[in-house]
Amino acid sequence: MKLRKIVITLLIIAAIVSGMLIAANEYSRHGLPVKEEPSYKLQIKGDSANTVLTNQAIDLLKSKAPEWLDFVYKYIAIIEIADQGSGMYVWEVPPRCKIGLKTIEAGTIWYSSVLVHEANHSKQYTEYKSKYPSKKVPEEIYSGHDAESECLDVQYKVLEKLGASKETLDYVKNAINTDYWKVDYKNRWW
Ligand SMILES: [Zn+2]
Repeated sequence: MKLRKIVITLLIIAAIVSGMLIAANEYSRHGLPVKEEPSYKLQIKGDSANTVLTNQAIDLLKSKAPEWLDFVYKYIAIIEIADQGSGMYVWEVPPRCKIGLKTIEAGTIWYSSVLVHEANHSKQYTEYKSKYPSKKVPEEIYSGHDAESECLDVQYKVLEKLGASKETLDYVKNAINTDYWKVDYKNRWW
């Protein structure tokens, strides 16, 4: 009687464990890591021509710098095409990246690199917020000289990977000296 109970209990445990193993196998078969970091399903808001160009920028990252595409997916939820005023609305939930037409017109390589640059601003904000949930994120965390300098470094790395021209690389290297971030979003021509 007692033995029968033990056998049944063991059988139940075995069934549960094998069920878990099958589920785990199913999970890895679909290429998903066991503990997946949250990532946004990117939404593009713009007319069809600009949506095509945005997808080209994404595809370029996918083929030449896939780790940076993951980075974009992780920190940008919405890409909104606007006449002007590129910038990252880091404080919005979910985070929105506004892209001005001049950024798109500058070509696919440039556009791809800007997406990574803006994603890095979102990362700066998000990381501070998860570290200090009850605090307001200070502006210098995601804006200003030091924050921009970090984003430009990241952008430079991406541009190198995408095979950007020396002129473009030099432009990014020197951009920190132009104080471009002091221009208000609404006054940005880019
Ligand atoms: Zn920036």
